[in-house]
Formats: sequence, structure tokens, C-alpha cells
Amino acid sequence: MIKEHDLVPGMEYYGDDHYDVQMKDFEEVSQYTFFDAYQDFTDDTAIYPEDRGLEYTALGLASEAGEFAGKVKKMIRDGTYNSDAMVAELGDVLWYVARAAAELDVHLSDVAQENVEKLKSRKDRNVLSGEGDNR
Ligand SMILES: [Mg+2]
Repeated sequence: MIKEHDLVPGMEYYGDDHYDVQMKDFEEVSQYTFFDAYQDFTDDTAIYPEDRGLEYTALGLASEAGEFAGKVKKMIRDGTYNSDAMVAELGDVLWYVARAAAELDVHLSDVAQENVEKLKSRKDRNVLSGEGDNR
């Protein structure tokens, strides 16, 4: 039982300067997201030549996106709908996105954040539809 004067671990008061440091640490920690945890996980399953990582991940990403498209194509052709298989292919796509980001030395959360900012800007400027990477 915590009594009135017992310190609660992590809640000790060491002055305002220390509080600012703690908040900065918290902000840094909070930027580490599930995206980054997943990206770290992919480190242990990345088996490809280190000196060809960017090429390897780009080709793998295109290949897995093709596998996903293939499942959708078969749905049209055969009338089959296999969401489990499609989700599995999306997972493969995600793995390659995470590895490609790692090859570019960026966190996966930064990739997601930049994409959010780009889409927010396009939405605000009413240019979500249309063409061009830099609209
Ligand atoms: Mg696959």
C-alpha cells in the first residue's frame, strides 16, 4: 500500500529542469511505434546480400505486390474470394516495405508519417485526385 509520503517509482520530483528532460525522453519513446517494432523484427528475417539490399527489396516489393494482384485477378477469373491469402500477401508487401525503408536508413514510422502529411496536404488543397507525385 502506498502511504502519503511514499515515492511512486517514476513520479519522483527532481525539479522543473528534470521534468523537461523526462518529457523529452517520453516524446522520443512515444515516436517508437508498432511500425518501428515491426521493422526491427524484420532485421532477424532479412536474408539477402547486404550490398544489394535496396535492389533486392525493391524487386521483392514489386513481386509481392504482384502476388497480391494475382489473388485479386483469380477472384475475378474464378469467382473465388480468399481474404486470408490476400492478407498474407499484404503481409509480404509490408515486410518488403519495412526492409526497403531500412535500406534507406529511415524508420517505418517516418515513412507512414510522411505519407500522412502528404495526404493531409492534398486533402486540404483538394488535390487528392489527379496526377503527379508533387501535387
Ligand atoms: Mg507472397
